[in-house]
Amino acid sequence: MFERLVPVRTEGQLSSRLGRRAGGFHLGQVPADRVPDMITRSVCGYCSVGCGLDVHLQGGRAIGITPSPTHPVNQGSACPKGWELLAPMEAHDRAGTPMRRSPAGRLEPVSWPEALRAFVSGVREVQAAYGPDSVAFLSTGQIPSEEIALLGLLARSGLGIRHGDGNTRQCMASTVVAYKECFGFDAPPYTYADLELGDVIVFWGANPAIAHPILWERALRNPNHPEIVVVDPRRTETAMVATHHLQLRPKTDLALAYAVGHVLIRDRLVDRRFVEAHTSGFESYAAHVKRFPPSVVAADCDLAESEIEALAHVIGTGRAVSIWWTMGVNQSHQGVRTAQALIALALLTGNIGEPGTGANSITGQCNAMGSRLFANTTCLFGGRDFENPEHRAAVAGALSIDEAVLPREPSWSYDRIMEGIASGAIRGLWVIATNTAHSWINQSDARELLGRLEFLAVQDLYHDTETARFAHLLLPAAGWGEKEGTFINSERRLGLIKAVRRPPGQALADFWIFKAIASAAGCAALVAPWESPEAAFRLLQRLTAGMPCDITGVDGWEHIDTGAAQWPYPDGADRPSPGEVERRLFSDGRFHTPDGRARFVVDDPTPPPERLSSSYPLVLLTGRGSSAQWHTGTRTSRAPALRLLAPEGGVVEIHPDDAAVRGIATGDPVEVRSARGSMAATALVSPTVRRGEVFVPMHAASTNQLTFPVFDPHSRQPGYKHCAVDVRRR
Ligand code: SF4
Repeated sequence: MFERLVPVRTEGQLSSRLGRRAGGFHLGQVPADRVPDMITRSVCGYCSVGCGLDVHLQGGRAIGITPSPTHPVNQGSACPKGWELLAPMEAHDRAGTPMRRSPAGRLEPVSWPEALRAFVSGVREVQAAYGPDSVAFLSTGQIPSEEIALLGLLARSGLGIRHGDGNTRQCMASTVVAYKECFGFDAPPYTYADLELGDVIVFWGANPAIAHPILWERALRNPNHPEIVVVDPRRTETAMVATHHLQLRPKTDLALAYAVGHVLIRDRLVDRRFVEAHTSGFESYAAHVKRFPPSVVAADCDLAESEIEALAHVIGTGRAVSIWWTMGVNQSHQGVRTAQALIALALLTGNIGEPGTGANSITGQCNAMGSRLFANTTCLFGGRDFENPEHRAAVAGALSIDEAVLPREPSWSYDRIMEGIASGAIRGLWVIATNTAHSWINQSDARELLGRLEFLAVQDLYHDTETARFAHLLLPAAGWGEKEGTFINSERRLGLIKAVRRPPGQALADFWIFKAIASAAGCAALVAPWESPEAAFRLLQRLTAGMPCDITGVDGWEHIDTGAAQWPYPDGADRPSPGEVERRLFSDGRFHTPDGRARFVVDDPTPPPERLSSSYPLVLLTGRGSSAQWHTGTRTSRAPALRLLAPEGGVVEIHPDDAAVRGIATGDPVEVRSARGSMAATALVSPTVRRGEVFVPMHAASTNQLTFPVFDPHSRQPGYKHCAVDVRRR
């Protein structure tokens, strides 16, 4: 069996505890201008954990935030980002006025009516010149479901924009496809309490100590002293604290998961009763994994055979085993199949539907799950099918619109939209609350493509994002704390955000910007029933009726505010009992496939497309570098406390042997180069990475100068986590 590793404290834990101490002071110690006269609850606007936050108000103005002690998700803790949510909103450089680029190339302030006219004429002129499909939109998992859905309706049915996608494509598209194919619906089966109930927790390609710190705290709170296994090429903060770490060669996860399946079957550790009663495709799966014995796979993964055998036995003999993954699995050239190989391990061992179990994808953004159900881009509203006549009729009825205006097919994916710009098929783009010029894979190409657009409208909180610099029109948006709406977190729990401060200047909630655009474009009638975010939520409820994600039984926003509503929450006989605050799926062994059985899906592993060379002999890994930064840092870099916790500038972790042959020491200025570009960084010589591999956090503005544009063929999710680079002293 495994040798146990020695635990150390992580940054996420530390900052959370520091925060709790700071939040635990007596109000008598607080200056009078910081004493609240009212506290209201909201949920965090960064990550998908969905922590409940108490917003302290004085005279109706937000003056501070503390984690909600009674919220079922975080139970009184928050990571640094949650504590500091107000600071970026109060930044002096918030966008407060619409801006239009003049013929001389300067951005100049304009009124909202002028901006709306410019938006509509910009879209219409491009469509008239190049066809209706020549304008696309790129959106986000950072805005509430009501806004995401209104955008999906307005753009695709009102403005005739056929193609649109979200930055959610970058984080969890592979899991969406994996769940749909295996479970018959995009249905993460777990509730966070499962972290506290099992005796084996496997984090596969996930670093929750940094990326999802509150979930990590909940795992550490598990009274069963669980085995915590981390599968990751890097010795992450989570791996340091885990009981076991399999430090495999990057992108060999699929073969490793098949080898684990091989051992489970060989050593009769399969739950035959569950497999026979509730799954299909086991015989094909068994024949497939027979080709992946540890003796063959160990060398590919650069692991000892005994490590693979031990992993299989921990999973196969655990009382209640949960397997959790994030971007280390999803952001891969084989992300879908890797996620499905992990789902297969849960099915093989019957670890699904019971407390402490599950094949569990943790998603990224605060409302990625809302985007998955309501974006109207990859599926029709409510997780429905664009081509299914019954689904189309249900959506048309729920929205009181003519079914003919609904799109008949999914949009192009993000990468196809970018290819469309390259080919000239897309000439106009509307970007909402995302930062393509920073976050898209192979950034130099992305920036060159944005520069080619004949019309680019950017709707965001700040006018100086890397993407906004290319814009012809800038629309100032309100952000978290300045508007209302609902999020859905990773465990399918609904959360309510509230307006607790005024947006700056003339900035408007995205909801009202969409409504204003609809009026300016002559399609106000289409969105008339969307009278307010709360009215929109009632429409969303109707859109889910009869679907696995049914929320028709949710008693309005007050109910959501309690934190006690997880989908499914149908009206009628299946409505949860009043005290039920944790819901997991598939406890009856019935899945959403036509035959009610979960499916095994397999494929052959393939190597990552970019090979190493004498010019680029190192593998670049990317990932979240700090619990104090969020993605491109558009907001978090404006919070002074977060900047102190995670100073700006690129850092590259390099193994001592690779550093020695290059004459590099910690603190040296270095250049990281790939065939596509380079970034300046500071060296951190560390055995946290394997020899021949380096790690760069995703937050640095130039990280994606390096990344190689490869996409999972089934999900079209970019594979950010493997490309060939070299590092040299500057
Ligand atoms: Fe919680 Fe995530 Fe917000 Fe941190 S960023 S407070 S973990 S929801």
